[in-house]
Amino acid sequence: MTTTPPVAARPQPKSTPETAHFWEGTARGELLLQRCRACNDAYFPPQPFCPACASDDVVVLRASGRGSLYSYVVSHRPAPGFTPPYVIAVVELEEGPRLMTNLVEHGVDLVADPDAFALDLAVEVDFETVGEMALPVFRPAAPASRRA
Ligand code: ZN
Repeated sequence: MTTTPPVAARPQPKSTPETAHFWEGTARGELLLQRCRACNDAYFPPQPFCPACASDDVVVLRASGRGSLYSYVVSHRPAPGFTPPYVIAVVELEEGPRLMTNLVEHGVDLVADPDAFALDLAVEVDFETVGEMALPVFRPAAPASRRA
């Protein structure tokens, strides 16, 4: 008798009072950042005060969803909810903040041919539903949405 090993579910992030607006945004297909009105710094992850100057005069802004590939690593290790190999990436958003994410779809090509994608590759946000949460992921930007 053979048994199939259980496929572990991908862990879901937990929404907190500080991050609730962010997860409500991803559910609508919006990537939300915060901006400090005292020093104009845009930042991520969500928190109720500015990481640069500690002001609590902060507002939520919707990011364009465009950015560039700042760094990445191809993981060949199994992880719950991920089929190796997969791409863990750091994306630098147009607005400035960087976030850790996954490069999807074309990430498969990246695994096969790491030279196919250069750092600074233009990427754009997409959303993957995991359980009841929508997680921001990135894919190479479509030519039409690339910056001139
Ligand atoms: Zn500030």
